[in-house]
Amino acid sequence: MKKFVLYNNYATKNIKDFKDNFGDYLYTTINEYDALLNELKIANIFTKDVYRKSLYNILSNKNNNYNQTLIINAYSFDYLVFKDKFFINNNPHLILDSAILIAKILNIKNIDILIRSYYNKEILINTIVEAEDCYKFENEININIYDENNYKENINIYFLERQKYVLDLETVIQFGYFAHMGLDNFSQYGNDENKGTCLISFSGDIPNVDLYEFQFGTSFNEIIKASGYIYYNNDIKCVFTNGFLNAPTTLESLNNKSLSYEDINIGNGGVCFIAENRCMLRIVMKIIQFAKSVSCTKCMPCNYGFNLCEYYLNKIILGQSNNNDYKNLLNAVEMIIKGSSCLYIYNIAKCIIETIKMFEYEFIYALDKKITLYSFINK
Ligand code: SF4
Repeated sequence: MKKFVLYNNYATKNIKDFKDNFGDYLYTTINEYDALLNELKIANIFTKDVYRKSLYNILSNKNNNYNQTLIINAYSFDYLVFKDKFFINNNPHLILDSAILIAKILNIKNIDILIRSYYNKEILINTIVEAEDCYKFENEININIYDENNYKENINIYFLERQKYVLDLETVIQFGYFAHMGLDNFSQYGNDENKGTCLISFSGDIPNVDLYEFQFGTSFNEIIKASGYIYYNNDIKCVFTNGFLNAPTTLESLNNKSLSYEDINIGNGGVCFIAENRCMLRIVMKIIQFAKSVSCTKCMPCNYGFNLCEYYLNKIILGQSNNNDYKNLLNAVEMIIKGSSCLYIYNIAKCIIETIKMFEYEFIYALDKKITLYSFINK
């Protein structure tokens, strides 16, 4: 039994390694899907994307189109969340193994794995070659790896939110572990409501910027300790969760929560700590610029909205603005919230407005004094 479910430092380098640790690919050993799905219902695994869908619901709804495509989203959209590269390097056979089983359950022939062009594609290609040599599944399942330079579509939020079968990499890996371990073993991790574990990407003003794995039910007190942060002088003024898709929160309110789908929408698992002396105007600017970078620019509120936000916020940061610019900034964010066509963009815009409201005093200070309250970061 592994101490950790998803995250272990031992990389499975080839199919022999994988078989030694996990056994044969799941689709060769599991033919009866109903029993597995019944156990999955109890395991209560949810997708780690913006929709937070029940994996049981996805897999138990019959698909009648064999030519459908299952998209494995390893494209790492989320800001300051760095899991996908780790999963690909750490256990590529489990990704493939789990994806094939999911495709079989859904009666889908095509699997597209979407990655960033700077990821190590060779690892995944070698994995597919090794697995095909071993199991000869190439006539039943087509598996392709794409990046932003060679996919038939632009890989963006708009595209991904409109596909029927898209799964994030963590969900695929977690399902693979669950199917190999069985419900009883898997249930030793987590709590009554949520079985298993969750990977957290720590970033920001803490000592231990890295990936950590926690069981569901772990208190955030414990999670914060793992980040290396030690409480003193209220020097962390807020924490962003879900990779800037939730409103910012304080350490105090986070401390009363535990890792569960009910307490907090942990989503992609990004947790970013912001120190007291960081300028929140510049943090908001970073989020706006990130949102701009993922916008597909198809619709006006999102396309022009983030440009407008950047324009007004720049004026405020440069000390060249007045109250009207602040109101215009808020109006631009509200326009995005009301008019965005994608849930992901809606959530980022909500995060931006909540951040501005929470730190309004820093904005007012900049408007009054023509200089931001925190201009320099003391290292
Ligand atoms: S909200 Fe509109 S412009 Fe923004 S990503 Fe979605 S479709 Fe594209």
